[in-house]
Amino acid sequence: MSANSETAASAVPAGEAPLGALACPEPNARPDLWPTTARRTDSGELEIGGRPVSAILEQAPAPVYVMDEADFRGRAATWAATMAEEFWEGYGLKGGSAFYAGKAFLTTRVARIALEEGLGIDTASRGELAVGLAALEEVDGEDATVRAARLGLHGNGKTEDEVSTAVYHRLGHLVVDSSEEVGYAVAAVRRWREAGHYGPQEQAGLMVRLTTGIHAGGHEFISTAHEDQKFGLSTHTGAARQAIDRIIDAPELELRGLHSHIGSQIADFAGFEQAAEAVLRLRHEVAADTGWLCPEIDLGGGLGIAYTGADEPAPSPAALARSLAAVVRSLCTELGDEAPHVSVEPGRSIAGPGQVTLYRVTGLKRVELGEGASRLYVSVDGGMSDNLRPALYGAAYTALVANRLPGPEAGLVRSRVVGKHCESGDIVVRDVDLPGDLTVGDILAVPATGAYGRSMSMNYNLFTRPGVAWVHEGGQGWVLRPETVEDLLRLEG
Ligand SMILES: *Cc1c(COP(=O)(O)O)cnc(C)c1O
Repeated sequence: MSANSETAASAVPAGEAPLGALACPEPNARPDLWPTTARRTDSGELEIGGRPVSAILEQAPAPVYVMDEADFRGRAATWAATMAEEFWEGYGLKGGSAFYAGKAFLTTRVARIALEEGLGIDTASRGELAVGLAALEEVDGEDATVRAARLGLHGNGKTEDEVSTAVYHRLGHLVVDSSEEVGYAVAAVRRWREAGHYGPQEQAGLMVRLTTGIHAGGHEFISTAHEDQKFGLSTHTGAARQAIDRIIDAPELELRGLHSHIGSQIADFAGFEQAAEAVLRLRHEVAADTGWLCPEIDLGGGLGIAYTGADEPAPSPAALARSLAAVVRSLCTELGDEAPHVSVEPGRSIAGPGQVTLYRVTGLKRVELGEGASRLYVSVDGGMSDNLRPALYGAAYTALVANRLPGPEAGLVRSRVVGKHCESGDIVVRDVDLPGDLTVGDILAVPATGAYGRSMSMNYNLFTRPGVAWVHEGGQGWVLRPETVEDLLRLEG
Protein backbone atom coordinates (compact mmCIF):
# COMPACT_ATOMS: atom_id res chain seq x y z
CA MET A 1 0.00 0.00 0.00
CA SER A 2 1.28 3.42 -0.89
CA ALA A 3 0.40 6.55 1.03
CA ASN A 4 -0.23 8.60 -2.09
CA SER A 5 -2.43 6.05 -3.80
CA GLU A 6 -5.39 8.44 -3.81
CA THR A 7 -3.90 11.92 -4.12
CA ALA A 8 -0.42 12.80 -5.24
CA ALA A 9 0.09 15.82 -2.99
CA SER A 10 -1.60 16.73 0.27
CA ALA A 11 -2.29 20.23 1.53
CA VAL A 12 -1.18 20.90 5.10
CA PRO A 13 -3.69 22.09 7.68
CA ALA A 14 -4.08 25.87 8.01
CA GLY A 15 -1.52 27.44 10.33
CA GLU A 16 0.99 24.60 10.00
CA ALA A 17 4.47 24.87 8.45
CA PRO A 18 4.59 24.54 4.64
CA LEU A 19 5.06 21.04 3.28
CA GLY A 20 8.76 20.16 3.24
CA ALA A 21 9.66 22.36 6.20
CA LEU A 22 9.30 19.40 8.58
CA ALA A 23 11.21 16.81 6.57
CA CYS A 24 13.88 15.01 8.60
CA PRO A 25 17.39 16.20 7.69
CA GLU A 26 19.73 13.57 6.24
CA PRO A 27 22.92 12.83 8.23
CA ASN A 28 25.08 14.74 5.76
CA ALA A 29 22.85 17.84 6.08
CA ARG A 30 22.62 17.88 9.89
CA PRO A 31 25.36 15.61 11.28
CA ASP A 32 24.63 16.90 14.80
CA LEU A 33 21.23 15.13 14.80
CA TRP A 34 22.75 11.74 14.02
CA PRO A 35 25.40 9.36 15.37
CA THR A 36 28.82 10.34 14.04
CA THR A 37 29.05 7.23 11.83
CA ALA A 38 25.56 7.60 10.28
CA ARG A 39 25.49 7.94 6.48
CA ARG A 40 23.62 6.74 3.41
CA THR A 41 25.17 3.78 1.60
CA ASP A 42 25.50 3.80 -2.20
CA SER A 43 22.25 1.86 -2.43
CA GLY A 44 20.47 4.52 -0.35
CA GLU A 45 20.18 2.71 2.98
CA LEU A 46 20.98 4.42 6.26
CA GLU A 47 24.11 2.91 7.80
CA ILE A 48 25.32 3.28 11.41
CA GLY A 49 28.59 1.94 12.81
CA GLY A 50 29.40 0.52 9.39
CA ARG A 51 26.16 -1.54 9.28
CA PRO A 52 23.19 -0.88 7.00
CA VAL A 53 19.90 -0.81 8.93
CA SER A 54 18.63 -3.95 7.14
CA ALA A 55 21.65 -5.86 8.46
CA ILE A 56 21.18 -4.43 11.95
CA LEU A 57 17.54 -5.55 11.99
CA GLU A 58 18.40 -9.07 10.84
CA GLN A 59 20.16 -9.61 14.17
CA ALA A 60 18.07 -7.21 16.25
CA PRO A 61 14.48 -7.02 15.01
CA ALA A 62 12.58 -3.74 15.25
CA PRO A 63 11.73 -1.91 17.35
CA VAL A 64 15.27 -1.50 18.61
CA TYR A 65 17.58 1.23 19.84
CA VAL A 66 20.86 1.29 17.95
CA MET A 67 23.86 2.70 19.80
CA ASP A 68 26.87 3.95 17.88
CA GLU A 69 29.48 3.01 20.43
CA ALA A 70 32.17 5.25 18.94
CA ASP A 71 29.79 8.21 19.19
CA PHE A 72 29.19 7.71 22.92
CA ARG A 73 32.90 7.16 23.55
CA GLY A 74 33.82 10.26 21.57
CA ARG A 75 31.40 12.54 23.44
CA ALA A 76 32.53 11.14 26.79
CA ALA A 77 36.18 11.78 25.89
CA THR A 78 35.37 15.29 24.69
CA TRP A 79 33.70 16.23 27.99
CA ALA A 80 36.54 14.82 30.07
CA ALA A 81 39.21 16.61 28.01
CA THR A 82 37.24 19.86 27.85
CA MET A 83 36.74 20.16 31.60
CA ALA A 84 40.38 19.31 32.29
CA GLU A 85 41.55 21.84 29.74
CA GLU A 86 39.29 24.80 30.52
CA PHE A 87 39.80 24.50 34.29
CA TRP A 88 43.51 23.75 34.04
CA GLU A 89 45.47 24.73 37.15
CA GLY A 90 47.87 26.71 35.01
CA TYR A 91 45.02 29.17 34.48
CA GLY A 92 44.76 29.79 38.23
CA LEU A 93 41.91 27.29 38.57
CA LYS A 94 41.70 23.99 40.44
CA GLY A 95 40.87 21.54 37.71
CA GLY A 96 37.58 20.40 36.27
CA SER A 97 35.83 17.11 35.76
CA ALA A 98 32.67 15.71 34.28
CA PHE A 99 30.39 13.07 35.77
CA TYR A 100 28.16 11.27 33.27
CA ALA A 101 24.52 11.47 34.47
CA GLY A 102 23.71 7.79 34.28
CA LYS A 103 19.96 8.26 34.35
CA ALA A 104 20.21 9.25 30.66
CA PHE A 105 21.19 5.66 29.81
CA LEU A 106 23.18 3.31 31.99
CA THR A 107 24.44 -0.23 31.69
CA THR A 108 27.70 -1.67 32.97
CA ARG A 109 29.19 -1.46 29.48
CA VAL A 110 28.14 2.18 29.09
CA ALA A 111 29.45 3.08 32.55
CA ARG A 112 32.75 1.33 31.83
CA ILE A 113 33.21 3.29 28.59
CA ALA A 114 32.49 6.54 30.45
CA LEU A 115 35.02 5.64 33.18
CA GLU A 116 37.63 4.58 30.61
CA GLU A 117 37.26 7.93 28.87
CA GLY A 118 37.90 9.82 32.11
CA LEU A 119 34.41 10.62 33.37
CA GLY A 120 32.85 9.95 36.74
CA ILE A 121 29.36 8.46 36.93
CA ASP A 122 26.39 10.10 38.62
CA THR A 123 23.67 7.80 39.85
CA ALA A 124 20.27 8.55 41.33
CA SER A 125 18.94 5.24 42.60
CA ARG A 126 19.94 1.91 44.12
CA GLY A 127 19.94 0.31 40.65
CA GLU A 128 22.05 2.98 38.99
CA LEU A 129 24.49 2.89 41.90
CA ALA A 130 24.79 -0.91 41.65
CA VAL A 131 25.55 -0.63 37.92
CA GLY A 132 28.12 2.11 38.56
CA LEU A 133 29.82 0.00 41.23
CA ALA A 134 29.81 -3.04 38.92
CA ALA A 135 31.50 -0.98 36.19
CA LEU A 136 34.12 0.30 38.66
CA GLU A 137 35.05 -3.30 39.42
CA GLU A 138 35.90 -3.74 35.74
CA VAL A 139 38.14 -0.66 35.59
CA ASP A 140 41.38 -1.60 37.24
CA GLY A 141 44.56 0.11 38.23
CA GLU A 142 43.37 2.09 41.25
CA ASP A 143 42.29 1.06 44.72
CA ALA A 144 38.61 0.93 45.67
CA THR A 145 38.52 4.30 47.47
CA VAL A 146 40.19 6.18 44.64
CA ARG A 147 37.83 4.56 42.19
CA ALA A 148 34.68 5.30 44.20
CA ALA A 149 35.62 8.98 44.21
CA ARG A 150 34.42 8.83 40.62
CA LEU A 151 30.85 7.90 41.61
CA GLY A 152 28.04 10.18 42.68
CA LEU A 153 24.62 9.64 44.25
CA HIS A 154 21.75 12.08 43.74
CA GLY A 155 18.05 12.12 44.34
CA ASN A 156 15.49 13.73 46.60
CA GLY A 157 14.15 11.54 49.35
CA LYS A 158 17.08 9.16 49.65
CA THR A 159 16.45 6.44 52.19
CA GLU A 160 18.68 5.80 55.20
CA ASP A 161 19.81 2.61 53.51
CA GLU A 162 20.83 4.37 50.29
CA VAL A 163 22.81 7.01 52.18
CA SER A 164 24.46 4.29 54.26
CA THR A 165 25.52 2.39 51.12
CA ALA A 166 26.94 5.56 49.58
CA VAL A 167 28.87 6.33 52.77
CA TYR A 168 30.13 2.75 52.92
CA HIS A 169 31.57 3.01 49.41
CA ARG A 170 32.99 6.50 50.06
CA LEU A 171 31.40 8.04 46.98
CA GLY A 172 33.10 11.19 45.74
CA HIS A 173 29.82 13.02 45.17
CA LEU A 174 27.20 12.14 47.76
CA VAL A 175 24.81 15.01 47.13
CA VAL A 176 22.33 15.51 49.97
CA ASP A 177 18.94 16.96 49.16
CA SER A 178 17.33 17.26 52.62
CA SER A 179 18.18 17.67 56.30
CA GLU A 180 17.06 14.06 56.88
CA GLU A 181 19.82 12.87 54.57
CA VAL A 182 22.42 14.76 56.62
CA GLY A 183 21.16 12.87 59.67
CA TYR A 184 21.35 9.55 57.82
CA ALA A 185 24.94 10.30 56.83
CA VAL A 186 25.94 11.00 60.46
CA ALA A 187 24.34 7.72 61.54
CA ALA A 188 26.04 5.86 58.69
CA VAL A 189 29.51 7.13 59.59
CA ARG A 190 28.97 6.11 63.22
CA ARG A 191 27.81 2.68 62.10
CA TRP A 192 30.75 2.16 59.73
CA ARG A 193 33.21 3.42 62.36
CA GLU A 194 31.82 0.92 64.86
CA ALA A 195 32.09 -1.85 62.29
CA GLY A 196 35.74 -0.89 61.72
CA HIS A 197 35.08 -0.03 58.09
CA TYR A 198 35.71 3.67 58.76
CA GLY A 199 38.68 4.93 60.75
CA PRO A 200 37.90 6.64 64.12
CA GLN A 201 38.50 10.12 62.67
CA GLU A 202 37.37 9.36 59.13
CA GLN A 203 34.62 11.59 57.77
CA ALA A 204 32.15 11.20 54.93
CA GLY A 205 32.32 13.97 52.35
CA LEU A 206 28.98 15.48 51.37
CA MET A 207 27.80 17.94 48.77
CA VAL A 208 24.65 19.99 49.28
CA ARG A 209 22.17 20.44 46.45
CA LEU A 210 21.13 24.08 46.32
CA THR A 211 17.98 25.59 44.89
CA THR A 212 19.14 29.01 43.77
CA GLY A 213 15.88 30.20 42.22
CA ILE A 214 17.44 30.27 38.77
CA HIS A 215 15.21 28.80 36.13
CA ALA A 216 16.58 27.65 32.83
CA GLY A 217 15.67 25.61 29.90
CA GLY A 218 13.03 23.47 28.39
CA HIS A 219 9.72 22.33 29.75
CA GLU A 220 8.54 23.16 33.26
CA PHE A 221 9.01 19.55 34.40
CA ILE A 222 12.66 19.59 33.38
CA SER A 223 13.55 22.96 34.88
CA THR A 224 14.71 22.13 38.32
CA ALA A 225 16.26 25.06 40.15
CA HIS A 226 13.40 27.51 40.59
CA GLU A 227 11.99 27.56 44.08
CA ASP A 228 8.60 25.85 43.90
CA GLN A 229 9.69 22.26 43.41
CA LYS A 230 10.88 19.13 45.13
CA PHE A 231 14.63 19.27 44.49
CA GLY A 232 17.33 20.85 46.58
CA LEU A 233 17.60 23.16 49.58
CA SER A 234 16.74 26.80 49.10
CA THR A 235 19.47 29.40 49.31
CA HIS A 236 16.81 32.03 50.07
CA THR A 237 14.88 30.50 52.97
CA GLY A 238 17.96 29.47 54.93
CA ALA A 239 17.31 25.75 54.43
CA ALA A 240 20.54 25.30 52.48
CA ARG A 241 22.56 27.22 55.06
CA GLN A 242 21.14 25.14 57.92
CA ALA A 243 22.17 21.90 56.23
CA ILE A 244 25.59 23.33 55.40
CA ASP A 245 26.21 24.47 58.99
CA ARG A 246 25.08 21.13 60.33
CA ILE A 247 27.56 19.32 58.07
CA ILE A 248 30.40 21.65 59.05
CA ASP A 249 29.59 21.14 62.75
CA ALA A 250 29.30 17.35 62.59
CA PRO A 251 32.57 15.55 63.41
CA GLU A 252 31.41 12.68 61.18
CA LEU A 253 31.06 14.84 58.06
CA GLU A 254 33.03 17.09 55.75
CA LEU A 255 31.43 19.65 53.46
CA ARG A 256 33.04 18.69 50.18
CA GLY A 257 31.10 21.03 47.99
CA LEU A 258 28.01 22.82 46.80
CA HIS A 259 25.87 21.61 43.95
CA SER A 260 23.39 23.20 41.56
CA HIS A 261 21.48 21.68 38.66
CA ILE A 262 19.28 24.25 36.96
CA GLY A 263 17.44 22.12 34.42
CA SER A 264 17.73 20.24 31.19
CA GLN A 265 17.83 20.80 27.43
CA ILE A 266 19.40 24.25 27.92
CA ALA A 267 20.83 26.14 24.94
CA ASP A 268 22.02 29.43 26.43
CA PHE A 269 24.57 29.87 29.16
CA ALA A 270 23.10 32.76 31.15
CA GLY A 271 21.37 30.45 33.66
CA PHE A 272 24.51 28.38 34.18
CA GLU A 273 26.56 31.53 34.73
CA GLN A 274 24.07 32.97 37.24
CA ALA A 275 23.94 29.66 39.08
CA ALA A 276 27.74 29.49 39.21
CA GLU A 277 27.78 32.96 40.67
CA ALA A 278 25.12 32.14 43.29
CA VAL A 279 27.00 28.99 44.32
CA LEU A 280 30.35 30.81 44.56
CA ARG A 281 28.84 33.65 46.61
CA LEU A 282 27.31 31.19 49.08
CA ARG A 283 30.64 29.34 49.28
CA HIS A 284 32.31 32.65 50.13
CA GLU A 285 29.68 33.52 52.76
CA VAL A 286 30.04 30.12 54.41
CA ALA A 287 33.81 30.54 54.50
CA ALA A 288 33.54 34.02 55.99
CA ASP A 289 31.25 32.73 58.76
CA THR A 290 32.78 29.35 59.52
CA GLY A 291 36.31 29.39 58.11
CA TRP A 292 35.54 26.44 55.80
CA LEU A 293 36.04 27.13 52.10
CA CYS A 294 34.68 24.02 50.42
CA PRO A 295 37.04 22.62 47.79
CA GLU A 296 34.55 21.84 45.03
CA ILE A 297 31.44 23.05 43.26
CA ASP A 298 29.27 21.05 40.90
CA LEU A 299 27.18 22.91 38.35
CA GLY A 300 25.06 20.00 37.22
CA GLY A 301 24.03 18.87 33.77
CA GLY A 302 21.57 20.24 31.28
CA LEU A 303 23.37 21.14 28.05
CA GLY A 304 20.80 20.58 25.30
CA ILE A 305 20.99 18.75 21.99
CA ALA A 306 19.12 19.08 18.69
CA TYR A 307 16.24 16.67 18.11
CA THR A 308 14.77 17.92 14.82
CA GLY A 309 15.77 20.04 11.87
CA ALA A 310 13.92 22.97 13.48
CA ASP A 311 16.35 22.99 16.44
CA GLU A 312 19.51 25.08 16.26
CA PRO A 313 22.70 23.02 16.57
CA ALA A 314 23.55 22.81 20.29
CA PRO A 315 26.47 24.78 21.75
CA SER A 316 29.61 22.74 22.29
CA PRO A 317 30.79 21.41 25.66
CA ALA A 318 33.92 23.53 25.21
CA ALA A 319 31.85 26.70 24.83
CA LEU A 320 29.94 25.96 28.04
CA ALA A 321 33.07 25.01 29.99
CA ARG A 322 34.84 28.15 28.81
CA SER A 323 32.02 30.42 29.91
CA LEU A 324 31.86 28.73 33.33
CA ALA A 325 35.62 28.95 33.75
CA ALA A 326 35.46 32.68 33.02
CA VAL A 327 32.81 33.20 35.72
CA VAL A 328 34.73 31.13 38.28
CA ARG A 329 38.00 32.90 37.55
CA SER A 330 36.65 36.43 37.72
CA LEU A 331 34.33 35.94 40.70
CA CYS A 332 36.90 34.06 42.80
CA THR A 333 39.40 36.82 42.08
CA GLU A 334 36.84 39.45 43.10
CA LEU A 335 35.94 37.59 46.30
CA GLY A 336 39.57 36.78 47.10
CA ASP A 337 38.78 33.05 47.30
CA GLU A 338 40.89 30.21 46.04
CA ALA A 339 39.05 28.72 43.05
CA PRO A 340 37.22 25.43 43.64
CA HIS A 341 37.51 22.28 41.59
CA VAL A 342 34.54 22.46 39.20
CA SER A 343 32.45 19.51 38.07
CA VAL A 344 29.56 19.22 35.67
CA GLU A 345 27.13 16.36 35.07
CA PRO A 346 26.16 16.05 31.40
CA GLY A 347 23.75 13.26 30.52
CA ARG A 348 21.82 14.04 27.36
CA SER A 349 24.71 15.68 25.54
CA ILE A 350 26.81 12.51 25.96
CA ALA A 351 24.22 9.79 25.42
CA GLY A 352 21.57 11.47 23.27
CA PRO A 353 22.85 11.84 19.71
CA GLY A 354 24.57 8.43 19.56
CA GLN A 355 21.38 6.35 19.52
CA VAL A 356 18.68 5.99 16.90
CA THR A 357 15.43 4.05 17.32
CA LEU A 358 14.51 1.84 14.36
CA TYR A 359 10.82 1.10 13.88
CA ARG A 360 8.97 -0.87 11.23
CA VAL A 361 5.94 0.85 9.66
CA THR A 362 2.88 -1.29 10.44
CA GLY A 363 0.00 0.79 9.09
CA LEU A 364 -0.96 3.97 7.24
CA LYS A 365 -4.14 5.97 7.72
CA ARG A 366 -4.93 9.20 5.92
CA VAL A 367 -7.17 11.54 7.91
CA GLU A 368 -9.00 14.34 6.06
CA LEU A 369 -8.87 17.63 7.94
CA GLY A 370 -11.08 19.76 5.65
CA GLU A 371 -10.23 22.26 2.91
CA GLY A 372 -8.15 19.66 1.09
CA ALA A 373 -5.78 19.25 4.03
CA SER A 374 -4.94 15.83 5.35
CA ARG A 375 -2.60 14.11 7.74
CA LEU A 376 -1.06 10.69 7.34
CA TYR A 377 -1.04 8.65 10.56
CA VAL A 378 1.88 6.26 10.40
CA SER A 379 1.71 3.40 12.92
CA VAL A 380 4.97 1.85 14.02
CA ASP A 381 5.74 -1.23 16.08
CA GLY A 382 6.61 0.74 19.25
CA GLY A 383 5.42 3.94 20.86
CA MET A 384 5.24 5.72 24.20
CA SER A 385 6.59 2.63 25.98
CA ASP A 386 9.97 3.04 24.24
CA ASN A 387 9.92 6.85 24.02
CA LEU A 388 7.98 8.51 26.80
CA ARG A 389 9.28 12.02 26.24
CA PRO A 390 6.68 13.20 23.71
CA ALA A 391 3.85 12.13 26.05
CA LEU A 392 5.63 13.41 29.18
CA TYR A 393 6.98 16.75 27.96
CA GLY A 394 5.53 17.23 24.48
CA ALA A 395 9.07 16.61 23.23
CA ALA A 396 9.61 16.92 19.47
CA TYR A 397 11.36 14.25 17.41
CA THR A 398 11.70 13.59 13.72
CA ALA A 399 11.90 10.46 11.56
CA LEU A 400 13.68 9.41 8.39
CA VAL A 401 12.84 6.54 6.05
CA ALA A 402 15.98 4.48 6.58
CA ASN A 403 15.78 1.44 4.32
CA ARG A 404 15.75 3.32 0.99
CA LEU A 405 15.65 6.71 -0.65
CA PRO A 406 12.21 7.95 -1.78
CA GLY A 407 11.20 7.46 -5.40
CA PRO A 408 11.74 10.46 -7.72
CA GLU A 409 8.01 11.28 -7.90
CA ALA A 410 7.15 10.49 -4.30
CA GLY A 411 6.57 14.01 -2.99
CA LEU A 412 5.93 14.55 0.71
CA VAL A 413 3.00 14.01 3.04
CA ARG A 414 2.40 15.81 6.35
CA SER A 415 2.57 12.89 8.78
CA ARG A 416 2.29 11.90 12.41
CA VAL A 417 4.11 8.82 13.64
CA VAL A 418 2.13 7.03 16.32
CA GLY A 419 2.63 3.99 18.52
CA LYS A 420 0.45 0.95 19.24
CA HIS A 421 -0.67 1.86 22.77
CA CYS A 422 -4.19 2.49 24.01
CA GLU A 423 -3.68 6.25 24.42
CA SER A 424 -4.34 8.90 21.79
CA GLY A 425 -1.33 10.80 23.23
CA ASP A 426 0.85 7.87 22.16
CA ILE A 427 2.77 9.91 19.61
CA VAL A 428 6.36 9.24 18.55
CA VAL A 429 6.72 12.15 16.12
CA ARG A 430 3.98 14.76 16.17
CA ASP A 431 4.81 16.43 12.86
CA VAL A 432 7.09 15.25 10.09
CA ASP A 433 6.97 15.33 6.31
CA LEU A 434 7.49 11.80 5.04
CA PRO A 435 7.85 10.61 1.42
CA GLY A 436 4.54 10.04 -0.33
CA ASP A 437 5.58 6.52 -1.34
CA LEU A 438 5.93 5.36 2.28
CA THR A 439 4.68 1.79 2.63
CA VAL A 440 4.04 -0.76 5.34
CA GLY A 441 7.31 -2.55 6.09
CA ASP A 442 9.50 0.52 5.57
CA ILE A 443 11.97 1.25 8.36
CA LEU A 444 11.78 4.58 10.17
CA ALA A 445 14.82 5.89 12.04
CA VAL A 446 14.14 8.36 14.87
CA PRO A 447 17.40 10.12 15.79
CA ALA A 448 18.65 11.36 19.17
CA THR A 449 16.88 8.78 21.35
CA GLY A 450 19.98 7.79 23.34
CA ALA A 451 19.17 9.86 26.41
CA TYR A 452 15.94 9.18 28.31
CA GLY A 453 14.82 6.70 25.65
CA ARG A 454 15.51 3.19 26.90
CA SER A 455 16.04 4.56 30.42
CA MET A 456 12.45 5.87 30.59
CA SER A 457 10.90 2.93 28.75
CA MET A 458 8.17 0.89 30.40
CA ASN A 459 5.79 -2.01 29.95
CA TYR A 460 2.43 -0.32 29.34
CA ASN A 461 0.04 -2.68 27.51
CA LEU A 462 2.57 -5.36 28.52
CA PHE A 463 4.90 -4.31 25.75
CA THR A 464 8.30 -5.86 26.14
CA ARG A 465 10.97 -3.18 26.26
CA PRO A 466 13.21 -3.10 23.17
CA GLY A 467 16.87 -3.97 23.38
CA VAL A 468 19.80 -1.68 22.69
CA ALA A 469 22.13 -2.97 19.99
CA TRP A 470 25.64 -1.56 19.80
CA VAL A 471 27.22 -1.15 16.38
CA HIS A 472 30.87 -0.42 15.79
CA GLU A 473 33.10 -0.76 12.71
CA GLY A 474 30.75 -3.20 11.02
CA GLY A 475 30.20 -5.31 14.16
CA GLN A 476 27.08 -5.59 16.27
CA GLY A 477 25.96 -6.99 19.63
CA TRP A 478 23.66 -6.23 22.55
CA VAL A 479 24.24 -3.51 25.12
CA LEU A 480 20.90 -4.60 26.57
CA ARG A 481 18.97 -7.59 25.27
CA PRO A 482 15.29 -7.06 24.44
CA GLU A 483 12.79 -8.12 27.06
CA THR A 484 10.70 -11.19 26.29
CA VAL A 485 7.18 -12.18 27.30
CA GLU A 486 8.84 -14.78 29.56
CA ASP A 487 10.55 -11.92 31.40
CA LEU A 488 7.12 -10.43 32.09
CA LEU A 489 5.60 -13.72 33.22
CA ARG A 490 8.60 -14.50 35.43
CA LEU A 491 7.69 -11.68 37.84
CA GLU A 492 4.18 -12.90 38.50
CA GLY A 493 3.65 -14.08 42.07
C1 LIG B 1 19.15 15.00 35.06
C2 LIG B 1 20.33 15.49 35.79
C3 LIG B 1 21.53 15.65 35.12
C4 LIG B 1 21.69 15.42 33.64
O1 LIG B 1 20.91 16.27 32.90
P1 LIG B 1 21.08 16.33 31.29
O2 LIG B 1 20.05 17.31 30.90
O3 LIG B 1 20.82 14.97 30.78
O4 LIG B 1 22.47 16.77 31.01
C5 LIG B 1 22.63 16.05 35.85
N1 LIG B 1 22.54 16.28 37.19
C6 LIG B 1 21.38 16.12 37.86
C7 LIG B 1 21.35 16.38 39.30
C8 LIG B 1 20.24 15.73 37.19
O5 LIG B 1 19.09 15.59 37.86
